[in-house]
Amino acid sequence: MPSTRPQYRGRFAPSPTGPLHFGSLVAALGSCLDARSQGGEWRLRMEDLDPPRERPGAAESILRTLDRFGFEWDGPVLYQSRRQAAYHEALHYLLAHELAYPCACSRRQVLAAGLRGVEGPRYPGTCRNGLPAGTPARAVRDRVEGRITFPDRICGTVTQDLPQEIGDFIVRRADGLYAYQLAVVVDDAFQGITHVVRGADLLSSTPRQIHLQRQLGLPTPEYAHLPLVLDAGGRKLSKQSQARPVREEEPLPVLWAALKFLGQPLPSERPESLDAFWKWAIGQWDISRIDCPGDAHRHPVSGTVPETRV
Ligand code: GLU
Repeated sequence: MPSTRPQYRGRFAPSPTGPLHFGSLVAALGSCLDARSQGGEWRLRMEDLDPPRERPGAAESILRTLDRFGFEWDGPVLYQSRRQAAYHEALHYLLAHELAYPCACSRRQVLAAGLRGVEGPRYPGTCRNGLPAGTPARAVRDRVEGRITFPDRICGTVTQDLPQEIGDFIVRRADGLYAYQLAVVVDDAFQGITHVVRGADLLSSTPRQIHLQRQLGLPTPEYAHLPLVLDAGGRKLSKQSQARPVREEEPLPVLWAALKFLGQPLPSERPESLDAFWKWAIGQWDISRIDCPGDAHRHPVSGTVPETRV
Protein backbone atom coordinates (compact mmCIF):
# COMPACT_ATOMS: atom_id res chain seq x y z
CA MET A 1 0.00 0.00 0.00
CA PRO A 2 1.34 3.44 -0.84
CA SER A 3 1.84 5.49 2.32
CA THR A 4 0.21 8.64 0.95
CA ARG A 5 -2.92 8.70 -1.16
CA PRO A 6 -2.82 10.96 -4.17
CA GLN A 7 -5.69 13.42 -4.57
CA TYR A 8 -6.96 11.75 -7.68
CA ARG A 9 -5.80 8.50 -9.15
CA GLY A 10 -8.09 6.75 -11.60
CA ARG A 11 -7.71 3.61 -13.63
CA PHE A 12 -8.91 1.57 -16.57
CA ALA A 13 -8.95 -2.18 -15.96
CA PRO A 14 -9.78 -4.18 -19.09
CA SER A 15 -9.98 -7.96 -19.18
CA PRO A 16 -8.03 -9.30 -22.17
CA THR A 17 -10.89 -11.40 -23.49
CA GLY A 18 -10.76 -9.74 -26.93
CA PRO A 19 -9.78 -6.51 -28.70
CA LEU A 20 -11.03 -3.13 -27.47
CA HIS A 21 -14.62 -2.46 -28.63
CA PHE A 22 -16.65 0.74 -28.50
CA GLY A 23 -18.09 -0.10 -25.07
CA SER A 24 -14.69 -0.48 -23.44
CA LEU A 25 -13.42 2.59 -25.27
CA VAL A 26 -16.21 4.60 -23.61
CA ALA A 27 -15.11 3.32 -20.19
CA ALA A 28 -11.47 4.09 -20.97
CA LEU A 29 -12.32 7.59 -22.19
CA GLY A 30 -14.67 8.41 -19.30
CA SER A 31 -12.18 7.30 -16.66
CA CYS A 32 -9.25 9.03 -18.35
CA LEU A 33 -11.04 12.36 -18.92
CA ASP A 34 -12.37 12.42 -15.38
CA ALA A 35 -8.83 11.94 -14.06
CA ARG A 36 -7.07 14.38 -16.40
CA SER A 37 -9.66 17.12 -16.01
CA GLN A 38 -8.89 17.11 -12.28
CA GLY A 39 -5.14 17.01 -12.76
CA GLY A 40 -5.17 13.39 -11.64
CA GLU A 41 -3.23 10.30 -12.59
CA TRP A 42 -4.64 7.52 -14.73
CA ARG A 43 -3.38 3.96 -14.39
CA LEU A 44 -3.87 0.83 -16.42
CA ARG A 45 -4.46 -2.63 -15.04
CA MET A 46 -4.73 -5.73 -17.17
CA GLU A 47 -7.24 -8.03 -15.50
CA ASP A 48 -5.77 -11.24 -16.82
CA LEU A 49 -6.72 -13.52 -13.97
CA ASP A 50 -9.09 -15.84 -15.83
CA PRO A 51 -7.04 -17.68 -18.49
CA PRO A 52 -9.97 -19.80 -19.79
CA ARG A 53 -11.76 -16.59 -20.88
CA GLU A 54 -8.72 -14.84 -22.33
CA ARG A 55 -7.68 -14.63 -25.96
CA PRO A 56 -4.00 -14.80 -26.97
CA GLY A 57 -2.68 -11.41 -27.97
CA ALA A 58 -5.69 -9.50 -26.59
CA ALA A 59 -3.73 -7.67 -23.88
CA GLU A 60 -1.15 -6.39 -26.39
CA SER A 61 -3.90 -5.45 -28.82
CA ILE A 62 -5.78 -3.42 -26.17
CA LEU A 63 -2.63 -1.54 -25.17
CA ARG A 64 -1.73 -0.84 -28.81
CA THR A 65 -5.22 0.48 -29.55
CA LEU A 66 -5.20 2.75 -26.49
CA ASP A 67 -1.82 4.08 -27.57
CA ARG A 68 -2.99 4.75 -31.14
CA PHE A 69 -6.00 6.62 -29.77
CA GLY A 70 -3.67 8.91 -27.85
CA PHE A 71 -4.34 7.62 -24.33
CA GLU A 72 -1.41 8.23 -22.01
CA TRP A 73 -1.19 6.28 -18.79
CA ASP A 74 0.95 6.81 -15.72
CA GLY A 75 3.38 4.22 -14.45
CA PRO A 76 3.73 0.63 -15.59
CA VAL A 77 0.72 -1.53 -16.47
CA LEU A 78 -0.22 -3.81 -13.58
CA TYR A 79 -0.89 -7.43 -14.63
CA GLN A 80 -3.20 -9.36 -12.33
CA SER A 81 -1.59 -12.62 -13.46
CA ARG A 82 1.48 -11.52 -11.48
CA ARG A 83 -0.42 -10.67 -8.32
CA GLN A 84 -1.26 -14.14 -7.03
CA ALA A 85 0.72 -13.70 -3.80
CA ALA A 86 -1.28 -10.58 -2.87
CA TYR A 87 -4.61 -12.34 -3.52
CA HIS A 88 -3.42 -15.33 -1.53
CA GLU A 89 -2.57 -13.07 1.40
CA ALA A 90 -5.98 -11.38 1.32
CA LEU A 91 -7.77 -14.73 1.11
CA HIS A 92 -5.72 -16.06 3.98
CA TYR A 93 -6.69 -13.03 6.09
CA LEU A 94 -10.38 -13.51 5.33
CA LEU A 95 -10.23 -17.22 6.21
CA ALA A 96 -8.17 -16.67 9.35
CA HIS A 97 -10.70 -14.13 10.62
CA GLU A 98 -13.67 -16.27 9.59
CA LEU A 99 -14.82 -13.58 7.21
CA ALA A 100 -14.78 -16.22 4.48
CA TYR A 101 -15.19 -19.99 4.56
CA PRO A 102 -14.61 -23.06 2.39
CA CYS A 103 -17.66 -24.24 0.50
CA ALA A 104 -18.34 -27.74 -0.84
CA CYS A 105 -21.44 -26.95 -2.91
CA SER A 106 -21.62 -27.43 -6.65
CA ARG A 107 -23.38 -25.00 -8.96
CA ARG A 108 -26.14 -27.57 -9.35
CA GLN A 109 -26.73 -27.69 -5.60
CA VAL A 110 -26.93 -23.89 -5.39
CA LEU A 111 -29.42 -23.88 -8.26
CA ALA A 112 -31.48 -26.63 -6.64
CA ALA A 113 -31.91 -24.51 -3.48
CA GLY A 114 -34.08 -22.21 -5.62
CA LEU A 115 -33.07 -18.86 -4.06
CA ARG A 116 -32.65 -15.88 -6.36
CA GLY A 117 -30.57 -12.75 -6.04
CA VAL A 118 -30.07 -9.82 -8.41
CA GLU A 119 -27.44 -11.71 -10.38
CA GLY A 120 -29.14 -15.10 -10.58
CA PRO A 121 -29.14 -18.05 -8.17
CA ARG A 122 -28.31 -17.04 -4.61
CA TYR A 123 -26.23 -19.22 -2.32
CA PRO A 124 -28.34 -20.63 0.55
CA GLY A 125 -25.51 -20.65 3.11
CA THR A 126 -25.16 -24.44 3.32
CA CYS A 127 -21.47 -24.40 4.37
CA ARG A 128 -21.58 -21.19 6.42
CA ASN A 129 -21.11 -23.02 9.69
CA GLY A 130 -18.75 -25.71 8.45
CA LEU A 131 -18.47 -28.21 5.63
CA PRO A 132 -20.92 -31.12 5.76
CA ALA A 133 -19.06 -34.20 7.05
CA GLY A 134 -17.01 -35.97 4.41
CA THR A 135 -17.37 -33.32 1.70
CA PRO A 136 -14.22 -31.69 0.33
CA ALA A 137 -13.99 -27.91 -0.06
CA ARG A 138 -14.34 -26.58 -3.59
CA ALA A 139 -14.57 -22.81 -3.52
CA VAL A 140 -14.10 -20.14 -0.84
CA ARG A 141 -17.02 -17.83 -0.11
CA ASP A 142 -17.11 -14.45 1.55
CA ARG A 143 -19.55 -14.05 4.42
CA VAL A 144 -21.88 -11.10 3.76
CA GLU A 145 -23.99 -9.13 6.16
CA GLY A 146 -26.09 -6.00 6.21
CA ARG A 147 -26.88 -3.29 3.73
CA ILE A 148 -24.24 -1.34 1.88
CA THR A 149 -25.00 2.22 0.81
CA PHE A 150 -22.65 4.37 -1.22
CA PRO A 151 -22.84 7.62 -3.20
CA ASP A 152 -22.35 7.06 -6.91
CA ARG A 153 -21.22 10.26 -8.64
CA ILE A 154 -23.61 9.61 -11.53
CA CYS A 155 -26.39 7.52 -10.00
CA GLY A 156 -26.69 9.14 -6.56
CA THR A 157 -27.26 7.01 -3.49
CA VAL A 158 -27.12 3.28 -4.19
CA THR A 159 -28.15 0.70 -1.61
CA GLN A 160 -27.91 -3.04 -1.70
CA ASP A 161 -28.94 -5.59 0.89
CA LEU A 162 -26.07 -8.04 0.49
CA PRO A 163 -27.60 -11.13 2.16
CA GLN A 164 -30.92 -10.73 0.30
CA GLU A 165 -29.73 -9.51 -3.07
CA ILE A 166 -26.37 -11.26 -3.46
CA GLY A 167 -25.66 -13.83 -0.72
CA ASP A 168 -22.26 -15.19 0.31
CA PHE A 169 -20.17 -14.84 -2.83
CA ILE A 170 -17.14 -16.65 -4.20
CA VAL A 171 -13.69 -15.17 -3.64
CA ARG A 172 -11.76 -18.22 -4.83
CA ARG A 173 -13.32 -20.46 -7.42
CA ALA A 174 -13.49 -24.25 -7.44
CA ASP A 175 -10.87 -24.25 -10.24
CA GLY A 176 -8.48 -22.45 -7.88
CA LEU A 177 -8.67 -19.07 -9.63
CA TYR A 178 -9.19 -15.93 -7.56
CA ALA A 179 -12.49 -14.19 -8.23
CA TYR A 180 -12.68 -10.77 -9.86
CA GLN A 181 -14.34 -9.27 -6.74
CA LEU A 182 -11.34 -10.09 -4.55
CA ALA A 183 -8.66 -9.17 -7.07
CA VAL A 184 -10.22 -5.83 -7.97
CA VAL A 185 -10.39 -4.77 -4.32
CA VAL A 186 -6.83 -5.83 -3.54
CA ASP A 187 -5.49 -4.06 -6.64
CA ASP A 188 -7.50 -0.85 -6.39
CA ALA A 189 -5.96 -0.47 -2.93
CA PHE A 190 -2.48 -1.55 -4.05
CA GLN A 191 -2.50 0.96 -6.89
CA GLY A 192 -3.81 3.71 -4.59
CA ILE A 193 -6.91 4.25 -6.71
CA THR A 194 -9.07 7.08 -5.36
CA HIS A 195 -11.70 7.22 -8.14
CA VAL A 196 -13.27 4.38 -10.09
CA VAL A 197 -15.13 5.30 -13.29
CA ARG A 198 -16.45 2.23 -15.17
CA GLY A 199 -19.47 0.70 -16.88
CA ALA A 200 -22.82 0.35 -15.13
CA ASP A 201 -22.68 -3.43 -15.49
CA LEU A 202 -20.45 -3.28 -12.40
CA LEU A 203 -22.82 -1.15 -10.32
CA SER A 204 -24.24 -4.21 -8.58
CA SER A 205 -20.71 -5.50 -7.85
CA THR A 206 -19.73 -2.32 -6.02
CA PRO A 207 -21.42 -3.14 -2.67
CA ARG A 208 -19.53 -6.48 -2.60
CA GLN A 209 -16.31 -4.61 -3.23
CA ILE A 210 -17.03 -2.08 -0.48
CA HIS A 211 -17.85 -4.95 1.88
CA LEU A 212 -14.50 -6.60 1.08
CA GLN A 213 -12.68 -3.28 1.53
CA ARG A 214 -14.18 -2.99 5.01
CA GLN A 215 -13.31 -6.58 5.90
CA LEU A 216 -9.71 -6.11 4.72
CA GLY A 217 -9.31 -2.62 6.22
CA LEU A 218 -8.78 -0.97 2.82
CA PRO A 219 -9.97 2.48 1.73
CA THR A 220 -13.10 2.86 -0.42
CA PRO A 221 -12.61 4.89 -3.61
CA GLU A 222 -15.29 7.15 -5.06
CA TYR A 223 -17.39 5.45 -7.72
CA ALA A 224 -19.07 6.59 -10.92
CA HIS A 225 -20.87 4.18 -13.24
CA LEU A 226 -21.22 5.09 -16.89
CA PRO A 227 -24.16 4.14 -19.12
CA LEU A 228 -23.57 0.97 -21.11
CA VAL A 229 -23.27 0.83 -24.85
CA LEU A 230 -25.80 -1.62 -26.27
CA ASP A 231 -25.83 -3.38 -29.60
CA ALA A 232 -28.76 -3.29 -32.02
CA GLY A 233 -30.39 -6.17 -30.15
CA GLY A 234 -30.22 -4.27 -26.86
CA ARG A 235 -27.40 -6.35 -25.39
CA LYS A 236 -24.30 -4.94 -23.74
CA LEU A 237 -21.35 -4.85 -26.13
CA SER A 238 -18.88 -7.38 -24.85
CA LYS A 239 -15.73 -9.00 -26.07
CA GLN A 240 -17.19 -12.45 -25.37
CA SER A 241 -20.16 -11.72 -27.62
CA GLN A 242 -17.72 -10.80 -30.39
CA ALA A 243 -18.40 -7.04 -30.40
CA ARG A 244 -16.57 -5.46 -33.33
CA PRO A 245 -13.18 -4.01 -32.40
CA VAL A 246 -12.82 -0.24 -32.78
CA ARG A 247 -11.06 0.78 -35.98
CA GLU A 248 -7.51 1.68 -35.09
CA GLU A 249 -6.89 3.27 -38.47
CA GLU A 250 -9.37 6.04 -37.77
CA PRO A 251 -9.26 6.93 -34.10
CA LEU A 252 -10.79 10.40 -34.33
CA PRO A 253 -14.36 9.61 -35.47
CA VAL A 254 -14.51 6.87 -32.84
CA LEU A 255 -13.24 9.18 -30.09
CA TRP A 256 -15.76 11.89 -31.01
CA ALA A 257 -18.55 9.30 -31.00
CA ALA A 258 -17.46 8.10 -27.56
CA LEU A 259 -17.37 11.67 -26.25
CA LYS A 260 -20.86 12.30 -27.61
CA PHE A 261 -22.09 9.06 -26.06
CA LEU A 262 -20.84 10.41 -22.72
CA GLY A 263 -23.07 13.46 -23.10
CA GLN A 264 -20.23 15.95 -23.60
CA PRO A 265 -20.44 18.86 -26.05
CA LEU A 266 -18.63 18.61 -29.38
CA PRO A 267 -17.12 21.62 -31.19
CA SER A 268 -18.97 22.86 -34.29
CA GLU A 269 -15.83 22.16 -36.33
CA ARG A 270 -14.14 19.00 -35.22
CA PRO A 271 -10.38 19.41 -35.05
CA GLU A 272 -8.47 16.84 -37.05
CA SER A 273 -5.67 15.94 -34.69
CA LEU A 274 -5.54 13.68 -31.67
CA ASP A 275 -3.87 16.42 -29.63
CA ALA A 276 -6.72 18.81 -30.36
CA PHE A 277 -9.28 16.14 -29.49
CA TRP A 278 -7.72 15.50 -26.10
CA LYS A 279 -7.31 19.19 -25.32
CA TRP A 280 -10.98 19.84 -26.09
CA ALA A 281 -12.26 16.74 -24.33
CA ILE A 282 -10.29 17.36 -21.12
CA GLY A 283 -11.22 21.05 -21.11
CA GLN A 284 -14.94 20.38 -21.56
CA TRP A 285 -15.35 17.31 -19.36
CA ASP A 286 -18.17 17.55 -16.86
CA ILE A 287 -19.34 14.27 -15.35
CA SER A 288 -22.60 15.84 -14.19
CA ARG A 289 -23.72 15.94 -17.84
CA ILE A 290 -24.02 12.17 -17.81
CA ASP A 291 -27.50 10.94 -17.00
CA CYS A 292 -27.90 8.20 -14.48
CA PRO A 293 -28.22 5.09 -16.60
CA GLY A 294 -31.71 3.57 -16.63
CA ASP A 295 -33.68 3.75 -13.42
CA ALA A 296 -30.72 2.79 -11.27
CA HIS A 297 -31.37 5.79 -9.07
CA ARG A 298 -34.91 4.88 -8.10
CA HIS A 299 -34.37 1.13 -7.97
CA PRO A 300 -30.70 1.11 -7.09
CA VAL A 301 -29.58 -2.40 -7.86
CA SER A 302 -32.69 -4.03 -9.14
CA GLY A 303 -31.08 -6.80 -11.11
CA THR A 304 -31.48 -5.15 -14.46
CA VAL A 305 -28.45 -3.53 -15.92
CA PRO A 306 -28.95 0.20 -16.47
CA GLU A 307 -28.91 0.76 -20.20
CA THR A 308 -28.59 3.44 -22.83
CA ARG A 309 -28.71 2.86 -26.55
CA VAL A 310 -26.24 4.42 -28.97
N1 GLU B 1 -12.07 -6.06 -15.94
C1 GLU B 1 -13.42 -5.60 -15.91
C2 GLU B 1 -13.99 -5.58 -17.31
O1 GLU B 1 -13.25 -5.58 -18.29
C3 GLU B 1 -13.55 -4.20 -15.35
C4 GLU B 1 -13.27 -4.16 -13.92
C5 GLU B 1 -13.45 -2.82 -13.24
O2 GLU B 1 -13.41 -1.76 -13.90
O3 GLU B 1 -13.64 -2.84 -12.03
O4 GLU B 1 -15.20 -5.60 -17.44
